[in-house]
Amino acid sequence: MASQPATLLIVDDDPQVRKLLETLLQHEGYLTLSAGSGEEALQSVAKQPPDLILLDVMMSGMDGYEVASRLKGDEATAGIPIIMLSALSESSARVSGLETGAEEFISKPVERVELWLRVRNLLRLKARGDLAANTPGPAPRQTGMNVHDLARQDLENALRQAVERSEFSVHYQPKVEVASGRICALEALLRWERPNYGAVSPAVFVPILESLGLIVPVGRWVIDTVCQQIAEWQSGDIGPVEVSVNVSGHQLIEGDLIADIARILAQTGVAPDLLEVELTEGSLMENTQHTIASLQRLHTMGVKISIDDFGTGYSSLAYLRRFPIDTLKIDIAFIREVTTNPQDAAITRTIIELAHSLNLRVVAEGVETQAQLAFLKEAGCDQIQGYLFSRPLPVDTLKRLLLERL
Ligand code: C2E
Ligand code: MG
Ligand code: MG
Repeated sequence: MASQPATLLIVDDDPQVRKLLETLLQHEGYLTLSAGSGEEALQSVAKQPPDLILLDVMMSGMDGYEVASRLKGDEATAGIPIIMLSALSESSARVSGLETGAEEFISKPVERVELWLRVRNLLRLKARGDLAANTPGPAPRQTGMNVHDLARQDLENALRQAVERSEFSVHYQPKVEVASGRICALEALLRWERPNYGAVSPAVFVPILESLGLIVPVGRWVIDTVCQQIAEWQSGDIGPVEVSVNVSGHQLIEGDLIADIARILAQTGVAPDLLEVELTEGSLMENTQHTIASLQRLHTMGVKISIDDFGTGYSSLAYLRRFPIDTLKIDIAFIREVTTNPQDAAITRTIIELAHSLNLRVVAEGVETQAQLAFLKEAGCDQIQGYLFSRPLPVDTLKRLLLERL
């Protein structure tokens, strides 16, 4: 939390709920204001804009939807994040809340950890200025939705359906050992073929799954699928193959990633060292104590840990000492012009040296040309991944490549 504690406005017509939320949030070090009705909430915001609002949906007089619509419809208050609270569990209540422009929705009775994580994450997004882009413009109920809102909502609905109907698949991209030129591992990449539309990039839909709270079940499905696949290869002609899986920070914080992985490994009989999790620097910086503890447990289990997109996310290197890391993956941004841009070349060399001096394996991603490969070989990079060798492939096509490597 920043040195100046954030001020949260709690709006609920039930004094007991207000008291409970005040106690929970003050315990986390936040300052609280409270309002017992929608009207009172609007007055309070006009007088002293809070950093975030917790807003009950069902209140006599002006309800939470109306309060949210008004605040989001006014440029002066549209940037204040809102978490809607409701005892209604129906998804229609949730959708109506989000439709007004509220950023989050929590069901009552409120679960303590969920409450403080959602509050913390939203405050963090707001501090980074990321919310403005996500905040719909004027409230839809008043002015109609703009094209961007409609497309987003359409995508969200399609994704919810995709989860229900299991429309996802996993492709695998080979990683090649530079010294031998042979496939040494794979990266699992999630794919979604949207019906009547075509493939949608995970760079687009993964962040939406995260914001909908759906990345935890989908991420679990990915790990499940990958482990079953490793087990199948292992018992057939192909033999043991190491596979890395991208893991979102939400899976570490909201889900029970460790228990899920332990269960899947036990069920499939896959050796833990055949599985690697790829995390971005940004996701490591969330809730660091919890993250360090989780990664330590994974490491103790024998699962490998890789830092994805290394070099773009965080300016402090101190965390490299604190996390049990096995691999650094140099971000594609440095590789793209590594042979023509001396600064990218210098950064790439430095990352390779840094990794080796810390006894870490280093992988370059996005390698597309022989010249890039030659540079990386000369610089001592351990593994490469990229279109030069292979695009991510469906299992059937990949099988041939894997058999050839033997
Ligand atoms: P990432 O983990 O950094 O994955 C590497 C991305 O670079 C992949 O994009 C891959 O297809 C692409 N790539 C590989 N070689 C080349 C190349 O030579 N040139 C270029 N231009 N691109 C190359 P993809 O599959 O679209 O995935 C994008 C991102 O989505 C991933 O970046 C990862 O952050 C996320 N993602 C993918 N699958 C999952 C998943 O199962 N769970 C989570 N949480 N995130 C995922
Ligand atoms: Mg990755
Ligand atoms: Mg990457």
